Amino acid sequence: MNDDKSFDLRAFQQHIATTFGKKDAERGLAGTFMYFMEEVGELAEALREPDKHDLNGEFADCLAWLASLAHLAGIDLAQVSAAKYSGICPKCRARPCACLSKP
Ligand SMILES: [Mg+2]
Ligand SMILES: [Zn+2]
Repeated sequence: MNDDKSFDLRAFQQHIATTFGKKDAERGLAGTFMYFMEEVGELAEALREPDKHDLNGEFADCLAWLASLAHLAGIDLAQVSAAKYSGICPKCRARPCACLSKP
């Protein structure tokens, strides 16, 4: 699998699918989305009080559950991410993005 120096999103999604895909499929898309949102909530808590929570772990949990969702939905997270965010902002077409400077 990936180590932190050669992280590959496609390999990560495949790793998550191999490890959890059967359980994810049994739970289904809606149930898995609930777990993902639960992790997003845990990330919010960790961002608010990082000394009381595992901030690193919550970021990792969110990405792992997002990868599970993508697998269930038949989405190649690496492909769609690279296609939409390959170099420029998809809205303003600038890099760096100029959207935030607008009201
Ligand atoms: Mg968590
Ligand atoms: Zn922009």
